Amino acid sequence: MILVLGGGVTGLAAGRVLEAAGEDFLVLEREDEPGGWCRSIPAGKYTFDMSGHFLHVSDPVLREWILGVPGVPWREVERDARILLKGRLTPYPFQVHLNGHAPAFVSRCLADFAAQRIRAAIHGDRTPNHLAEWLIQRFGKAMCEAFFFPYNGKMWRTPLARLGYEWTDWSVPVPRFEDLLDGASGGVRKGMGYNARFHYPARGGIGALVGALARPLGARVRTGARVARIDLRRKVVHTSAGDALPYRAVISTIPLPGLAACSEGLSSSARRAASSLKWVKVLAINLGICGAGPTPGHWMYVPEPRYPFFRVGFLSNVAPSSAPRGCASVFVEKSFPANARVNVDREIGKAVRGLKRMGVLRGGSRIEELRPVMLDPGYVLFDGARSKGVSLLAGEFARRDVILAGRYGAWDYFGMDRSIADGLRAAGLAARSHGR
Ligand SMILES: Cc1cc2nc3c(=O)[nH]c(=O)nc-3n(C[C@H](O)[C@H](O)[C@H](O)COP(=O)(O)OP(=O)(O)OC[C@H]3O[C@@H](n4cnc5c(N)ncnc54)[C@H](O)[C@@H]3O)c2cc1C
Repeated sequence: MILVLGGGVTGLAAGRVLEAAGEDFLVLEREDEPGGWCRSIPAGKYTFDMSGHFLHVSDPVLREWILGVPGVPWREVERDARILLKGRLTPYPFQVHLNGHAPAFVSRCLADFAAQRIRAAIHGDRTPNHLAEWLIQRFGKAMCEAFFFPYNGKMWRTPLARLGYEWTDWSVPVPRFEDLLDGASGGVRKGMGYNARFHYPARGGIGALVGALARPLGARVRTGARVARIDLRRKVVHTSAGDALPYRAVISTIPLPGLAACSEGLSSSARRAASSLKWVKVLAINLGICGAGPTPGHWMYVPEPRYPFFRVGFLSNVAPSSAPRGCASVFVEKSFPANARVNVDREIGKAVRGLKRMGVLRGGSRIEELRPVMLDPGYVLFDGARSKGVSLLAGEFARRDVILAGRYGAWDYFGMDRSIADGLRAAGLAARSHGR
């Protein structure tokens, strides 16, 4: 028997491969429904996601696999993302759309960017020690101080000098000087960045993908089955419902620190590595608003402290079916350190005030539905301990026939695409394993 721990998109994708291979397997999911962070929330006449979940997938083989899952009414959408800074709304990515900002600020951005390039040309590329240095070297001081530092500070809730930058290669576009000049004089770059075009279901929210993945697996997805204990020596998973399930191999997509905490038979160095892993959680507040003010684009990055969130998204501009006509399905995202105590009601009050300041809520607007959800974990922290700790844990678990997969199983910064790809990879490995 192969056990898949967690029924999010990674675990479900793994299940689909195992089923096609004729394997004996079971997906164990602690909640009453599968989907993890990719569930959608029907709320009256609105549809919300756990937070904005847009599918961007660059690998053509993977794209074919995901878009080929029968039953998802996919639509392809051209991204319309914005930056709200100094009262101005400019297209994403910020660095190549400086036009519209005060001329003195634009010229400082260009000069500081050029200075970094000149320094690199004369003295050679220095390897940055941390994220703050990486950002300065790529974009220069003026853009960092105005946008990159405050935005990343809001998102990671950790001094940037304590974070690595291994995740930036796919997610932060680094332009050429010509791109900056062009953007400063009004040029618009449409195709830049990892999600220039993305897919999203026309109906049902991103949960439509979850439903389509899970349906053919039927009772092979066991919900309400929390993994409580794993005996790595005897190779048995114990659930909170009292089941003891022997396994040949495990694919674990549940958060790595939690997996380590419930695993019996781990070495003390693996335990230490697991306790050094850090993350932030994300409070996503979904609002169904009738009579909303302007909701420009699909989402906006919001670096300034006067707004108590780092991103606000307008799901109904991506999928009009997610709100009734004349109304908007809106979400805001705010990060917190993992151990922070969060007063959700107070955060809702702050978010509402922020949306009023922004003009999204105005006189005559009515909040018809409100669904806050805490995504914990939200973002894995790339600090000095992560990479060594994760490879130690992955090695030790692999020797016990436990394969780590997905954003939180592998403890990485994966979108749905890479999580699903990891689930497919893990299923292939598990199917080839013969146990010990
Ligand atoms: C704020 C935010 C915004 C995001 N936006 C996007 C986006 O726009 N596009 C994109 O591609 N990706 C996005 N992502 C990433 C995306 O959410 C993940 O890549 C994806 O959900 C990972 O799926 P998963 O199955 O690996 O993990 P999860 O979705 O976390 O699923 C893990 C499952 O394991 C279950 N579980 C946990 N513990 C146990 C236990 N002890 N026993 C049994 N089951 C357990 C959970 O209930 C859950 O169902 C975003 C993430 C966040 C936090």
